[in-house]
Amino acid sequence: MECTRCGACCVAPDIAALDKPLGLRCPHLTADNLCSVYDRRPQVCRDYQADAVCRLIEAPTLEERVRKYLDLFGLSDEAESVRQSGCSSMRKARPG
Ligand code: SF4
Ligand code: SF4
Repeated sequence: MECTRCGACCVAPDIAALDKPLGLRCPHLTADNLCSVYDRRPQVCRDYQADAVCRLIEAPTLEERVRKYLDLFGLSDEAESVRQSGCSSMRKARPG
């Protein structure tokens, strides 16, 4: 599976190294879904590889891909509560 640069993996998952909560855009993701800190992105981003999940979440819009990703991993409810709390910090959204 080749990466289509769809952007979903920079929006859907929570990323501890960036204190990025579930379902919210990484602050480093540009409007055209590229990484603005590519040369100094965290190791977890460097290690991320396109895999079968990328195909499973294919959809016409980024919003739909993110929704499919969250559904796939059973994380939709948690992402919704993060959205409702308006919390942009993973550590604050998930205390302890
Ligand atoms: S979700 Fe998959 S295809 Fe989309 S940008 Fe990430 S690795 Fe690439
Ligand atoms: S740092 Fe770059 S590669 Fe990592 S999640 Fe953010 S935009 Fe994506």
